[in-house]
Amino acid sequence: MKLVFHGAAKEVGRSCIELQTQGDRYLLDAGIKFKEGGFDYPEQIVNLPDIDGLLISHSHLDHAGALPLFEHYKIICPIYCTKLTYSITKVLLKDSYKIARIRNLHPAYTKTDLRHLEKDIRLVRYDRQYKHRKIRFTFKNAGHVPGSAMILVEAEDKKILYTGDTKLRTTELVKGPTLDYKDIDMLIIESTYGDRELPDRNETRKRFLDKVTEVTNKGGSVLIPVFSLGRAQDVLIMLAERRFKAPIYFDGMCKKITQRILTTPDPYVNNREILDKMFNHKAIHIGSEKHRHHALSQQGIYVTTSGMMQGGPVMSYLRELWHEPKHAILLMGYQCKRTNGRHLIEDDYVYLDGWRTYVKCDIEKYDFSGHAGKEDLKEMIKRINPKKLVIQHGDPDAVEELRSWAEKENKYIVYAPEIGEEIEV
Ligand SMILES: [Zn+2]
Repeated sequence: MKLVFHGAAKEVGRSCIELQTQGDRYLLDAGIKFKEGGFDYPEQIVNLPDIDGLLISHSHLDHAGALPLFEHYKIICPIYCTKLTYSITKVLLKDSYKIARIRNLHPAYTKTDLRHLEKDIRLVRYDRQYKHRKIRFTFKNAGHVPGSAMILVEAEDKKILYTGDTKLRTTELVKGPTLDYKDIDMLIIESTYGDRELPDRNETRKRFLDKVTEVTNKGGSVLIPVFSLGRAQDVLIMLAERRFKAPIYFDGMCKKITQRILTTPDPYVNNREILDKMFNHKAIHIGSEKHRHHALSQQGIYVTTSGMMQGGPVMSYLRELWHEPKHAILLMGYQCKRTNGRHLIEDDYVYLDGWRTYVKCDIEKYDFSGHAGKEDLKEMIKRINPKKLVIQHGDPDAVEELRSWAEKENKYIVYAPEIGEEIEV
């Protein structure tokens, strides 16, 4: 039995690991990688119609975004995932298709492929063992985003655990994983923060709320650009902790995603009642450009997509707020290179309608993340205690740092695969 790495090998993006048993082939995740002007897909997968099953860890497009492409090339097998993962994936895929069309990027699949996915989806429950052909598998909570799972595969008397993306600690929105695993032969772990520590979340939350209080007390508005899944809901739950002098507005795709989270049963969603109260009663939903203008005519706390300010309704807010020092823009997480968010943190400007615009607002960044920091990754490895360890889903430096730590521990056989590499389980 062996693994073949088609993506997320010494990189973040396009997760796709092939598991070959005697006669059968399975894929763990089917992601894309965003790049300027389009996407990269998993590499070197031969004979797609021959695949016997797909297991999807969570809905982020770097783990599920290649599904319609695979459909296009006529994959004929069941696709297993949790109910919430499927529900959110559908929203994200539709949106990504729409954006690709607007920007004239070739999406590599058609609308029909999106529709056809439905028939192959098999919903799984957490903590229940399923059997398909010669493998047995269990989806376990991963603590990353609502619906996210670690996947435990048992085949040929071996146990393989794939973490997908994971966070050890409970957050505002997702409960942390329990890690009650025994006799794991191979652990395939993500390493996004393999070389970095995250700041204390409680302290970061306090700093963030203090800033919202300070700005609104002085009569300013607060713009909070968010990712539609995870951070948008985290922010609503955090804002519930205090009373502010300005109303809270909620705008963009995060509305649809929050709806899906609230209407789909899932045992690992945290603070569901608070989220429900904030989303359905407290926050004002923005539905049109006219409504948006009205909201902007007075003081407000605007929670809206996209998180890196590369498009979406956030641009309308930015256009109205950028020139006033009394307002604040609060960035809630990692900002990729060459995005407006990154330009804003590093050089105080954004591109607005093609113009480089120096923003006069108060700008702050807070490191909230749905991933485990460096020490928590080590803690997870120690607790799971596998015989073999595969480090992937990280930039080369992150993979290298975690690998050199794991080798010094002298307890595991450690791998850091390249794309196309095969590893015997
Ligand atoms: Zn993810």
